[in-house]
Amino acid sequence: MQTSHDNVDPAELAKFSELAHRWWDPESEFRPLHQINPLRLDWIQSLVSLQGKEVVDIGCGGGILTDAMARSGARALGADLATKSLKVAQLHALEAQTPNVRYQEISAEALAAERPASFDVVTCMEMLEHVPDPASIVRACAALVKPGGWVFFSTLNRNAKSFLFAIVGAEYVLNLLPRGTHEYAKFIRPSELARDCREAGLEWKQTRGMEYNPLTRRYWMSQDTSVNYLVATQRPME
Ligand code: SAH
Repeated sequence: MQTSHDNVDPAELAKFSELAHRWWDPESEFRPLHQINPLRLDWIQSLVSLQGKEVVDIGCGGGILTDAMARSGARALGADLATKSLKVAQLHALEAQTPNVRYQEISAEALAAERPASFDVVTCMEMLEHVPDPASIVRACAALVKPGGWVFFSTLNRNAKSFLFAIVGAEYVLNLLPRGTHEYAKFIRPSELARDCREAGLEWKQTRGMEYNPLTRRYWMSQDTSVNYLVATQRPME
């Protein structure tokens, strides 16, 4: 595990590394990510075709979304700083024979410095709420994308309802996630993410909410952004 970067919380990486062997178990702690994956993939593809596109997935973890984007025709790179998760992602790609996918242990900021304006699509899902300085990740994503390209983010809103649903509900009542997965203070309001995007030169195009019904154990996308939400942004053409 790399800890030599400024914008990383080693405790956060450790949390994910500890569970890394279960990334591809759809009934594990990662069940919510497996369940929302087809929804977010469809939404991305409703805005931009992934066929033949250069895509980077920042904070890719075990590669749940990276792998799906490669299977949708993209040439996909997954980037994370948790070594174990990346190994699991690589192993899965080998076993599942996923075409055109690779994984790299590198920070968003370092990758942006190495390969500016190189990607048609950048995704950064469920990751911003785990880093000390999310604005720096947003800037890196804006630097990675080509002019005219798309950048997608998802994270957790910060309000009484998201505290109740995402922490109390998910971690203590329903046991969907391990306790301590999320820290309320790191949640990000859409207005805050909008400011970070604006300052990074990204145009805000679309917002969606992700809702969950604990009785049916199903997720769906809606206009309710009060808990988990996704945003689509675009770097303007030069
Ligand atoms: N984006 C994936 C995984 C989300 S879990 C998905 O939605 O399916 C959050 C991920 O962020 C973990 O894999 C964790 O290792 C990663 N992460 C946390 N801090 C990071 C940082 N500073 N740089 C890169 N990845 C980071």
